[in-house]
Amino acid sequence: MALQILRTGDWVWLPSKAGGEYAVDIGAKVKFTDSGQIQVVDDDGQEHWLDKKVALKAMHISSVEGMEDMIELGELHEKGILRNLFTRYLENNIYTYTGSILVAINPYQVLDIYNMQQIQQYKDKKIGDLPPHIFAIADNAYYSMQRYGHDHGESGAGKTESTKLVLQFLAAVSGQHSWIEQQILEANPILEAFGNAKTIRNDNSSRFGKYIDIHFTPSGVIEGARIEQYLLEKSRIVNQAHNERNYHIFYCMLKGLTQDQMNQLHLKDATGYYYLTQGGEITCEGRDDRAEFSVIRAAMKVLMFTDDEVWDILRILAALLHLGNVKYSSTEVSNIESAEIQDKTEIQLVAKILGVDANKLYQGLTSKTIQTREESVTASLSQEASLDVRDAFVKGIYGRMFIWLVDKINAAVYKPSNPGQKVRSIGVLDIFGFELFDNNSFEQLCINFANENLQQFFVHHIFKLEQAEYDSEGIQWEHIKFVDNQEILDLIAIKKLNIVALVDEEAKFPKGSDATLLQKLHQHHSKNRNYLMPKSSRAAQFGISHFAGNVFYNVKGFLEKNRDTFSIDLMELIRNCKFPFLLNLFKEEFKLSGKNTLKRNATLGSQFKKSLESLMATLNACQPFFVRCIKPNEFKKPQIFDRELCTRQLRYSGMMETIRIRKAGYPIRHKFKDFVDRYRLLADGIGPAHTVDCKQASQKICGIVLKGTDYQLGKSKVFLKDAQDVYLEHQREIT
Ligand code: ATP
Ligand code: MG
Repeated sequence: MALQILRTGDWVWLPSKAGGEYAVDIGAKVKFTDSGQIQVVDDDGQEHWLDKKVALKAMHISSVEGMEDMIELGELHEKGILRNLFTRYLENNIYTYTGSILVAINPYQVLDIYNMQQIQQYKDKKIGDLPPHIFAIADNAYYSMQRYGHDHGESGAGKTESTKLVLQFLAAVSGQHSWIEQQILEANPILEAFGNAKTIRNDNSSRFGKYIDIHFTPSGVIEGARIEQYLLEKSRIVNQAHNERNYHIFYCMLKGLTQDQMNQLHLKDATGYYYLTQGGEITCEGRDDRAEFSVIRAAMKVLMFTDDEVWDILRILAALLHLGNVKYSSTEVSNIESAEIQDKTEIQLVAKILGVDANKLYQGLTSKTIQTREESVTASLSQEASLDVRDAFVKGIYGRMFIWLVDKINAAVYKPSNPGQKVRSIGVLDIFGFELFDNNSFEQLCINFANENLQQFFVHHIFKLEQAEYDSEGIQWEHIKFVDNQEILDLIAIKKLNIVALVDEEAKFPKGSDATLLQKLHQHHSKNRNYLMPKSSRAAQFGISHFAGNVFYNVKGFLEKNRDTFSIDLMELIRNCKFPFLLNLFKEEFKLSGKNTLKRNATLGSQFKKSLESLMATLNACQPFFVRCIKPNEFKKPQIFDRELCTRQLRYSGMMETIRIRKAGYPIRHKFKDFVDRYRLLADGIGPAHTVDCKQASQKICGIVLKGTDYQLGKSKVFLKDAQDVYLEHQREIT
């Protein structure tokens, strides 16, 4: 690109000075030129003096102006996309399409774009008729049913809020103000109370995945729904990181209960509980836990929770809090370290609240029964082991209660259809994005496994759309290749001796340990190119080369987490409890009966794999819409656009796949008319677009300027390769 033609007012791409993995070029406008130097002002308002000899790439007109649909950007590359999102974001246009994908950038402020008037406006419109909006996606789904939306993005990006907006829209257009609509909307406060928490990244972070399927009558009226939940983060119940909280419900309950109820459950305020104070935060700015408690109670009423059930839930929550306050001390009896609980107050309280025997509870929390073929022996536990047993017990109860809550909600909102009747439905998936932490464990493996599945689904879908576009334009496309992540999925969960299977096998093997697991993993997969050996041979880690990047997993705790159960003694305690609600939480397990629950229960890994398979089957049967939620900054503040953070998300989200697939074919497409207008001067004797047959004129231009290269003319557009676009632009500049 010859530089001398740059004029004041022209736009260029300024190479990023930041360096680093996520640095991307920034846009800049030429402010002043003289013989030797030019002055530009970049998108952030910074001025730069540059030597005229520095080659700067001119910005495509579509990038200068910005596009509602990024597919129409002449420069469909990372910097082009980023700048388009950036300039729109500054104008509070938080929604942008990339073909059928909606990109949503969290505004971190309440925008007046979700009112009833907007809902009415977007009703019955085609995508593209109005500015991009989450309502447009919801309306499209509604218009053609049997479709589903899929929110994807990083913590705090706005997935859950988007999901709520879709539900709000659907309820509004269903338009009945019916009991069932209200029930579906009221499921949210309950799920969020028990499954959301304040984290450092999001004050209301969902710590579980969910899929809400909304069912409609043939005339488009909501008649029911079904909610599926995935993988609640249970470690949070016993452990919170710095500046984070436990699940909202605990704090709400302690603020919202009457003094009389507090007395009955022997509760005090949140500062008094180990399980609620480890993160050093018991309040959350902008949240009123007391008011929220009334909202939750009201929602429970709408969803047909009886007063007894609500009280039973509170009893469980109180018991868990008391359990967290049990203080162990260490003693040594004949050289064996064992744990003691000196102050038995909590034990007695818990026993009373849960209707179990206090002595057995004490035993269960400090010792374990080992079953051999001939006899059973009781061994005392160390202090550390006792704490683990207690925490596993607490997590086990809470986790099952969460599942019970979802079942309870479904019992109210799910109306099985008559056999043979076709169900019309819209599903909305709000699920965790790809995770990469300093320390990654079994949970991250599951989450990233889910994301590999969704990524594959996404890529296949996008690829199909591309094919469809080529077909409808009559373009030959067979040389387009795309890489999918099947090999990674094979390694994690499909092929023989895959990682999930090995973790399962080792969890069932009596002598199995995290160390033997690691050995087996290395043994079977060290030669797999997607399997990464740890940098140091002593590190208890293995790595996977995921589509979004490499992740090393620490195997410590893998087997326990996968077994997802707790001590047989405490299980027995519950089996004999006088608290029907608690007993009922475990009914599935007790149905299996027999003492050896360890062998019989499905592991977490295999359960998760199963529910994922069923999710993928559902998704495959639908017409999907994708909403990519993007978090613009880490400060939860409006109008701040952190380029590197956004670039990273664009890459992780697989958005770039869309582009990669495009680039494999003919990424640049111009409608004949636009093409003629832009390039007619490159061929002699072609008049303005409105005066000529644009297809013929396009053909003529291509024939002259792009002679002998690989371009194609479709039914309404010219299809070009990147290099041809660059060449055409260059020719245009020097003509
Ligand atoms: P996580 O993965 O942690 O659950 P998430 O993607 O579900 O994160 P949300 O809880 O939906 O994130 O959004 C985080 C916060 O961002 C919200 O509590 C809200 O304050 C703000 N927010 C998100 N979307 C919008 C929006 N469309 N308008 C205004 N504020 C929003
Ligand atoms: Mg969420």
